[in-house]
Amino acid sequence: MIDLSGKTALVTGASRGIGAAIAARLDEAGARVLLNSRNEADIAAVAKNLTNDPGLYAADLGLPEAGTGLAERVVADVGGVDILVNNAGIAMRRTPDQLTEDDFNAVFNINVRGLLMLTLGFGDTFIDRGGASVINVSSVAGLIGPLGRVAYSGTKGAVDAMTRALAADWGRHGVRVNSVAPGLITTDIWKESRETVPGLIEEMAASISLRRWGASEDIADVVLFLASDLSSYVTGETIAIDGGLARVRGGGEPEYKAD
Ligand code: NAD
Repeated sequence: MIDLSGKTALVTGASRGIGAAIAARLDEAGARVLLNSRNEADIAAVAKNLTNDPGLYAADLGLPEAGTGLAERVVADVGGVDILVNNAGIAMRRTPDQLTEDDFNAVFNINVRGLLMLTLGFGDTFIDRGGASVINVSSVAGLIGPLGRVAYSGTKGAVDAMTRALAADWGRHGVRVNSVAPGLITTDIWKESRETVPGLIEEMAASISLRRWGASEDIADVVLFLASDLSSYVTGETIAIDGGLARVRGGGEPEYKAD
């Protein structure tokens, strides 16, 4: 049983999907969870089901200075956090001929700039506290080359690279930095793809070794492990949570039989 009593966690993008599931898991384990998303009413609805005095921190992390500003608010209110889960993000499906500079900025602003500036905003307090666990939510799109997602894939590759670089910078201070790379997880983020690319979802499911889409709770369980001391010797790592999608040949082939 993982016990996070006495710990404070900030989860970004916690109004639904993976972020809401992570907030619930950390709360169940005893942490006080601070919830971020753009809309206060949405995070208040999630907070209703949490038990350890949850906090509400609405902010649009895609805006300039927003990451720094959110860190300053949290530090001013509660002194800092022990666990930071950088989950907020948007998807972007654009073929190379469709992608505009505005698209590029939109997806990099939230997925990369907002994530990094929020994390750096806690740097001094992480060090003063003698350690912390930072968990970034990247994607299998950063591990394999997906079709029609060059900018999104770039943001997630950047997240994994920044994860390793910060793990190097902060390791001596006991600050661990890891990322999780979800595969196909049933959340609202797939709404647009479901509508615009018929059959895509079914085709992708067939290539998953475990032959099923994941649930937000599948991600939350691994984030809980990374937040806890059970992972105290793990840093700079990216853990794919994808039923084998990125690294295992799973679909569309007959079973090999021994001669
Ligand atoms: P979702 O769209 O259901 O939830 C995204 C959350 O981020 C929401 O709470 C949303 O309000 C918040 N958010 C978006 N833009 C924001 C902004 N500018 N400022 C603050 N909050 C913002 O999606 P999800 O599937 O739960 O995705 C969560 C994370 O997981 C994302 O980083 C996504 O890239 C990653 N991911 C998801 C999948 C999947 O299959 N669902 C796969 C790989 C990676």
